[in-house]
Amino acid sequence: MSTKFLIKGARIEGGAVADILTSGTRIVEMGSQLSSAGATVIEADGFVALPGLVDLHTHLREPGFEQSETVLTGTQAAAAGGFTAVFAMANTNPVADTAGVVEQVQRLGDEAGYATVRPIGAVTRGLEGVQLAELGAMAESRARVRVFSDDGKCVHDALLMRRALEYVKTFGGVVAQHAQEPRLTIDAQMNEGEVSARLGLAGWPAVAEESIIARDVLLAEHVGSRLHVCHLSTAGSVDVIRWAKKRGINVTAEVTPHHLLLTDARAESYDAKFKVNPPLRRQEDVLALRDALADGTIDIVATDHAPHPAETKECEWSAAAFGMVGLESALSVVQTTMVETGLLSWADVARVLSKKPAQIGLLTTQGHDLVAGSSANIVLVDPAVTRVFGRDNLVGRSHNTPYGGIELRGAVHTTLHNGYATMLQGSLVDATTVAAAAEEVRHG
Ligand SMILES: [Zn+2]
Repeated sequence: MSTKFLIKGARIEGGAVADILTSGTRIVEMGSQLSSAGATVIEADGFVALPGLVDLHTHLREPGFEQSETVLTGTQAAAAGGFTAVFAMANTNPVADTAGVVEQVQRLGDEAGYATVRPIGAVTRGLEGVQLAELGAMAESRARVRVFSDDGKCVHDALLMRRALEYVKTFGGVVAQHAQEPRLTIDAQMNEGEVSARLGLAGWPAVAEESIIARDVLLAEHVGSRLHVCHLSTAGSVDVIRWAKKRGINVTAEVTPHHLLLTDARAESYDAKFKVNPPLRRQEDVLALRDALADGTIDIVATDHAPHPAETKECEWSAAAFGMVGLESALSVVQTTMVETGLLSWADVARVLSKKPAQIGLLTTQGHDLVAGSSANIVLVDPAVTRVFGRDNLVGRSHNTPYGGIELRGAVHTTLHNGYATMLQGSLVDATTVAAAAEEVRHG
């Protein structure tokens, strides 16, 4: 495989048109009318070039749930979606609560080569919410863990949350909270509101999320530590984050693509592909989340890619698993909901899907401006495409997308990770070629 690419005539972050020449793992030159012998030429007329996308919230399911996804298949989905780095959530089996497990996940990512995999460590042992996990050992391990989360579960004990915030402060880490008051959401199935009342499904009140966020921003202020809030889903959560930021509290927040597009009305179909945690909310919540992402109250978009096999999704709503896959569709949903509506520019997209998530996760090697000298982590998107999303667009092991049959704008054309192609001209590069390129980078 060539490790030299000449990208001809891309709009850099949607702005000026330039050629990009890469060699090895770097961008070596940018300008007009570039040429280079031996480079693979990519005609990018009309395409937007962005720094490789960084997902702060991915479930790769390995070890333990390989029937849903593996590090290999999950990072293939990432590459297809334009991602060059993913942060892997800790709710595996065994749980990523020790140095051994996080090192294993990182090694599997390195070997597969489709994206940089940064393991997230559990906050509490076994995600049980009783005792702190070995945060220091994970931070000092070869995986250098900096993000900690019990995601899937909320760190609901205020004292444990305080201790976790204190601990990560010592090495500049961050706690990413899944804000869900457990007692307020016992058996909850969907957003609490008109639709849940009509369908007779147990409701999940907005206050279950908002009350935990309010508590945690105050704890972060008290401790002087850094807090990240996962998947905001309500207008009230936006209000709390806005208040906290105004007060100078060190908090960042994410929204998922699905909460930017879909509402609880989708549950009327009783199709469990729309069952997710936190649940889809009302249209006014969707609009508040879009505005908050546009004005910077919400810092980033993160996928919460949550693969599940068909048998756990294609069943009765109340028996179905929570979660949706999202890596392959994220950029298109953001273009559809935020760029086409004029709420975000492509430079903003580079910020919310690459630069800022890298900063929050302390991933220093990615999320940079596309300039000579930067790492060659690049995604080329064709923004002019309109496609009806479907199973053909999925490359991960699970197919529980909520976007089947929905029209989305834009498509990823090419993804370069550390200077080699993982997705080339609309096709995923095969695993052997990618693994060999990754090994060359590691040992070169
Ligand atoms: Zn979560």
